[in-house]
Amino acid sequence: MIKKFLGNVFSGRIFGSGRPKVVPFKVHGVSRDGISPCALQVTETLQRRHHAAFVVGGAVRDLMLGRKPKDFDVATDATPEEVRALFRRSRIIGRRFRLVHVMCGRDTVEVSTYRGGHAEDDDEARVADEHGRILRDNVYGTQQQDATRRDFTVNALFYDPVSQEIWDYHGGVADLRKRRLRMIGDPVQRYREDPVRMLRAVRLAASHDLEIDAASRRPIRVLADLLANVPPARLFDEMLKLLLSGRAAECVTKLRREGLHHGLLPLLDVILEQPRGERFVMLALRTTDERIRDDKPVSPSFLFAALLWHEVLAAWQQIEGEGVPRIPALYSAMDRVMQVQGEKLAIPRRFGADMREIWGLQPRLLQRSGTRPYRLLEHPRFRAAYDFLLLRCQSGEADKEIGAWWSRFQDAGEVERREMLVRDGEPRKRRRRRRRKDEGGTMKAEG
Ligand code: ATP
Ligand code: MG
Repeated sequence: MIKKFLGNVFSGRIFGSGRPKVVPFKVHGVSRDGISPCALQVTETLQRRHHAAFVVGGAVRDLMLGRKPKDFDVATDATPEEVRALFRRSRIIGRRFRLVHVMCGRDTVEVSTYRGGHAEDDDEARVADEHGRILRDNVYGTQQQDATRRDFTVNALFYDPVSQEIWDYHGGVADLRKRRLRMIGDPVQRYREDPVRMLRAVRLAASHDLEIDAASRRPIRVLADLLANVPPARLFDEMLKLLLSGRAAECVTKLRREGLHHGLLPLLDVILEQPRGERFVMLALRTTDERIRDDKPVSPSFLFAALLWHEVLAAWQQIEGEGVPRIPALYSAMDRVMQVQGEKLAIPRRFGADMREIWGLQPRLLQRSGTRPYRLLEHPRFRAAYDFLLLRCQSGEADKEIGAWWSRFQDAGEVERREMLVRDGEPRKRRRRRRRKDEGGTMKAEG
């Protein structure tokens, strides 16, 4: 009973300056049928033990918009240890802020304890090593504090699957109705605290057809440079979310409109201003968006390879112009582009290797004589390189005929394949000598 009382106090039902507006089912219309069985089980179990437990964040927003949530997060007043003790298949994760992952079958629900405002407010809960690096800053808080530390009003809704009520501290239900994305608190201060919120604003607005409200939108242009201070790995994660949102084309267009594209991918602005570069990037994004909407897998390396391709092309041309043979020039160009890129937005090594392969195979796709096309077909990255070539053809950068040739060659029988091989009229000896000179780069001869 005491626990229930305390739970109620902490969840803001009894005390607390800001009381939530409790919106009943008949007003919001979000039925518990939309909640995953795992999230239902987690919230019900916690509530049976007299804890407050709500589905929170993006899932509630998406359900209210009639979309299928990607995943379900649960917020509770139970501590991670208490949650852990209630679910056999669960584990505590995270060092700085500890969460519990509860597994049901193949499903996982992330359960977080209500978080308070700023870690600085409570030294007790902070543990740092001797260098001052924070190891743990579990600052628990009330439900109201948990709502207030979230970014946008539409992301701060708490849904109780048992009562089917939505608890709304910041007017998120009304904002969703108006399709308005509004920052909780003072937008300038909130962007300063975490500049990634500017990217989140653009992503959520573009991917959910929301309008960023004027006061939340205005500071973005002014504060855009703050993104330079965000660790490159975090920027990469956020860019990846944006690019895999299923609305990447809109997101990138909007990034540019809000003046946020500088510094994310170096010279993304320049690329987008070259007619061909823009066409290529937009084609790649639209193709990715379609694949995501059709539930087909997409590869981040392919996407980043596409975004940076015109950078590679420019560097390649320049290095070749300095007298470096064609293929080594391509490899130097890749190194240069990846290095410049890494300073802004760290592309993980595993993607970097794939990107280089996709780029590196492009000149090889131009070689269509002898046994080389057969060997290329066997290459583990052939499919990605071929898809990449098709995009180049579509954007007008590569000869359409080469893409069509590969499309036919893959499906052709042996006799047809042999007939398709490109024979150039040059005597063998001369060809071989020239090829040795430029280390296999027969792009010009056969392309
Ligand atoms: P998505 O559908 O892309 O997952 P989401 O809103 O669920 O969107 P998450 O990154 O999963 O995004 O975050 C879950 C919740 O955590 C958000 O809804 C928001 O309430 C809160 N949140 C996430 N990032 C921030 C941030 N940078 N600042 C404040 N709150 C945040
Ligand atoms: Mg989410």
